[in-house]
Amino acid sequence: MRRLATGDLLALWEQGAAQSDVERALLLLAAACPDRPRDALADLSIGERDWSLLELRERIFGTTLEGLATCAQCQAMLDLAFTVDDVRGAASNRSTAEPALSVQADGYDLRIRLPNSRDLEVAAAANSLPEARRRLFERCVLDARRDGAVCRADDVPEEIVQMAEARMAEADPQGDLQLSIACPHCGHRWQAGFDIVSFFWSEIHAWAFRLLQDVHVLASAYGWREAEILALSPRRRQAYLELVGP
Ligand SMILES: [Zn+2]
Repeated sequence: MRRLATGDLLALWEQGAAQSDVERALLLLAAACPDRPRDALADLSIGERDWSLLELRERIFGTTLEGLATCAQCQAMLDLAFTVDDVRGAASNRSTAEPALSVQADGYDLRIRLPNSRDLEVAAAANSLPEARRRLFERCVLDARRDGAVCRADDVPEEIVQMAEARMAEADPQGDLQLSIACPHCGHRWQAGFDIVSFFWSEIHAWAFRLLQDVHVLASAYGWREAEILALSPRRRQAYLELVGP
């Protein structure tokens, strides 16, 4: 994984502005891992993808993450500060993406694989959440049998689909990152899902706006071109901003 230069990250932000979260995740990973073919990145399980995104996020913005949450018990608004390891901790054993998982129950015998970015893209085009879940499941079925005879994935009943989903989550724990939160006001504790793609992208978005604002100030003050300002180290850029004053 290579380090992304300031100008590169800004270009990615511009390119990803009109894209879906699934595309943004692949865009960032492709830029950070130029030696890996895009197809191979799209084939990563969601857990493996998110693990790599966390690593990239840590390289760019450091180990501390900040967010907001509302306590369900006392309604207090909480400022959260946590680390990349707090999120990774819940899923410490990186999965070695088993090629096929098996689910056997009620006469059904399924072989399934873990969902990847292509599957998420297809599921995202569904009209409802139940339909999206179903599409995701059906795409991940490699082989389905009932009492030994081949059956269609869309004939598999809901209870078996739920078992398959549980099996996938267990085999790919990073695909469902959870954060443990404790309310300092009332002591309520809970687990919140953590979506690294939307979190990381909103950070990139805020960073890009701050950066363009700095470019605007320095270009107005010194007449430098954007590329020249972006090529400055953050420290040097900050020093010039302080010289220009408020
Ligand atoms: Zn509370």
